Amino acid sequence: MAFELLVPEDEEALFSLMEEKDYRLLAGGTDLYVQMEKDLLSPDRVIDITEVMAEPKIEEKKEKISILATATFQEIAESLLINRYFPVLAQSALAVGATQLRNMATIGGNICNASPSADSLIALYLLNPELVLKSSSRERQIALEDFITGPGETELFRGEYLKSLEISKISEDFSHYFEKVGRRNALDISVCTMGYILKEEDGIIEELRLAYGAVAPTVIRATSVEEYLEGKRLNQENVAEAKKLVKSEISPISDIRGSAEYREKVAARLVEKIGNNTDSSQ
Ligand SMILES: Cc1cc2nc3c(=O)[nH]c(=O)nc-3n(C[C@H](O)[C@H](O)[C@H](O)COP(=O)(O)OP(=O)(O)OC[C@H]3O[C@@H](n4cnc5c(N)ncnc54)[C@H](O)[C@@H]3O)c2cc1C
Repeated sequence: MAFELLVPEDEEALFSLMEEKDYRLLAGGTDLYVQMEKDLLSPDRVIDITEVMAEPKIEEKKEKISILATATFQEIAESLLINRYFPVLAQSALAVGATQLRNMATIGGNICNASPSADSLIALYLLNPELVLKSSSRERQIALEDFITGPGETELFRGEYLKSLEISKISEDFSHYFEKVGRRNALDISVCTMGYILKEEDGIIEELRLAYGAVAPTVIRATSVEEYLEGKRLNQENVAEAKKLVKSEISPISDIRGSAEYREKVAARLVEKIGNNTDSSQ
C-alpha cells in the first residue's frame, strides 16, 4: 500500500487537504486499513482527522448529548453520561470487537462505513441522532436515517466530514436492550442484531422503538411491530403476531455467517426478548 498519510492539526488545514481529488479520511483505521489491504480502496492520500477534534468527546448540553465522531467505543462504553441517558448505546459499544479494537474504533467510522451489521447503528437508529457535517463552506445537520442510504453508502459529500452527533435526551422511564447474535461473543460480525427501548405502564406498552441489524441492506426500524405492540400487553398472542410482522420487515441474505432462513428465525425469536431487560451482549 503506497499512500501519503497526513495529519492536519486544525479544521482549516483539514479542509485544504480535502481539496485534492483522491483522499480518504482516517479515524481509527479499523475499517479503512482493512479495505485498503484487500485492495478495495487505494487512495493516494489518507487524512487522519483525530487531531482536528477538540476535547471533550462527550458533552452534556441542555437537552442533548453531543458526541464527537472520533469518540472511541471504549470511551462511549465507559461514559457516565452515555450510561445514564442512553444505556443501549453503551451496551452496543461494548459489543464491538474486543478491548483493543474498542480503543481504536470510533463511532464516526462505524456510521460512515454504513455496514448493515454495525453495532452502534442499532442504538443510534433507536435514538434518532442529528449528524453534524462540516465542509469549508458550510455546516449542515442530517438525521441518521437520511444519511445512510445503503450498504456502505451515505450522503457524505466530497469535502465534508462528520464532526459530531447530537442526541436529544430521552425520558429515563425507558428500558434499554441490545443483543447481538453471532458465532462467538468477541471479534465477530453479527448474524442478527436487535435492540429496543421500551416504555411500559402497568404492563401495557406505551412506546416501543425496535431496530434490527444484519437482516436488510441497512439497519432498520421494525415500525410495523412498534405500531402493532403499542397500547398492548406482551402476551403470547401479541408476541406471535409481532414475530410474523418482523419477518415481513426484513430481507436477510445468506452468507458465510448464516443462511437467510436462519437469520429470519433468529430475528423472529428475538421478539421474545422484548420486555426482558437483561442485556446479553457481553
Ligand atoms: C477485527 C475487527 C473486528 C470488528 N468488529 C466489529 C464489531 O464487533 N462491530 C462493529 O460494528 N464493527 C466491527 N468492526 C468494524 C470497525 O471496527 C467499525 O466499523 C469501526 O467503528 C470503524 O471505525 P474507525 O474509526 O476504525 O473507522 P475508519 O476505518 O478510520 O474509517 C471507516 C470509514 O469511515 C470514514 N470516516 C471515519 N470517520 C469519519 C468522519 N468523522 N467523517 C467522515 N468520514 C469518516 C473513513 O474515511 C472510512 O471510509 C470490526 C473491525 C475489525 C477489523
